[in-house]
Amino acid sequence: MYDVIVVGAGPAGSTAAKTLAEKGRKVLLAERAKMPRYKSCSGQLIQKTLDLVERYFGEPVPLSTMCKPTENRGVILTDDRGNTFRFEQSGRNVWRSSFDKWLADKAAAAGAEVVEEMAALACEQRSDAVTVTLKSGDHIYAEQARYIVDCEGVTGTLKRKLTGQEPEYITTYQTYNQGSIALDPHFFYAWLQPLLSQYDAWFNVKDGQLVLGVSVRDGERTNEYFVRFIAYMQEKHGLRIEKRLKEDRWLLHRVRPGCPIDHGVGRVLFAGETAGFLNPMGEGVSSAIESGHLLGEAMEAHFDDPKAVLSAYATAARPLQDYMKRQWHLVSAMSDAFGDMKI
Ligand SMILES: Cc1cc2nc3c(=O)[nH]c(=O)nc-3n(C[C@H](O)[C@H](O)[C@H](O)COP(=O)(O)OP(=O)(O)OC[C@H]3O[C@@H](n4cnc5c(N)ncnc54)[C@H](O)[C@@H]3O)c2cc1C
Repeated sequence: MYDVIVVGAGPAGSTAAKTLAEKGRKVLLAERAKMPRYKSCSGQLIQKTLDLVERYFGEPVPLSTMCKPTENRGVILTDDRGNTFRFEQSGRNVWRSSFDKWLADKAAAAGAEVVEEMAALACEQRSDAVTVTLKSGDHIYAEQARYIVDCEGVTGTLKRKLTGQEPEYITTYQTYNQGSIALDPHFFYAWLQPLLSQYDAWFNVKDGQLVLGVSVRDGERTNEYFVRFIAYMQEKHGLRIEKRLKEDRWLLHRVRPGCPIDHGVGRVLFAGETAGFLNPMGEGVSSAIESGHLLGEAMEAHFDDPKAVLSAYATAARPLQDYMKRQWHLVSAMSDAFGDMKI
């Protein structure tokens, strides 16, 4: 019997696993992919994320996880009327595969049993424990734990089964390219004009590769928006693509007005994107780390009382939810597409 089974070794899961393991809890961190695993992400760590990593992991984000330019100097945002705003702030540019592996290694060093290529398929709650069905290779078996921390990211299979909720998603599509452009590679750029995307379109640079992406509500129209975005970038910013190196399609949690958060059901608690945490322009690593840590602390403080865990976690995470609401409120003034996110 484990004290806690954490599902998913993204930033939320590794932080929760580390927080609990270093308090002496017996923790299994199950990750369905082989590590280091790919995660579609711009890999921009804002200052808040860097501070959280130092606070909870005891050292700065290491250079080995970063790509060039290693420094991100902020976001340059173009609103839906074409006005440009510059938000300067020092951050870092990482490959998520390396960064997430580093976080998982930290959880292992704190005493968590980290097992890759192990997927959680389902879970069943009793009053005193939870049974989780796990799949490792062809082997399907059950494990018991006092709690599950569900950090599966955007898809949240366990959460869907437990709550019966069918989440709404935003589809993201981005390509990595060899080429040139007349934009400063130290910044992350986002465009909110409705012609270019149904959410945002973005540009950033990773190890010399030009990354261009769009996000849309209606996944079938991805290509149409992407083609228009590329034409816009060619005309406005001198984009020249010599070779397309890679592409990926992913999902983002669609944040609803009021930024609702699902903290958990009984002995199954949610953190990170599974709980619904996600800031505008798809910034989610800071809230994944913070919610994972807050959940670990709440669990440790009230281990024998699941109701008290849920309530303490919801209270501790309220400032994080309020921060998220303020961020979305800011964006609501920049684009009619986010008008319903006004506080
Ligand atoms: C295109 C794009 C760009 C983004 N850019 C940024 C950015 O620049 N900066 C930023 O801060 N955020 C960015 N984000 C958001 C960020 O990636 C997420 O919010 C963040 O990764 C959420 O962390 P998490 O730990 O909740 O989930 P994840 O990082 O998604 O981790 C979930 C983990 O759970 C595993 N898993 C899933 N199901 C199971 C299962 N059943 N059993 C076992 N394991 C399972 C997955 O393999 C994965 O490793 C971006 C997102 C997208 C799509």
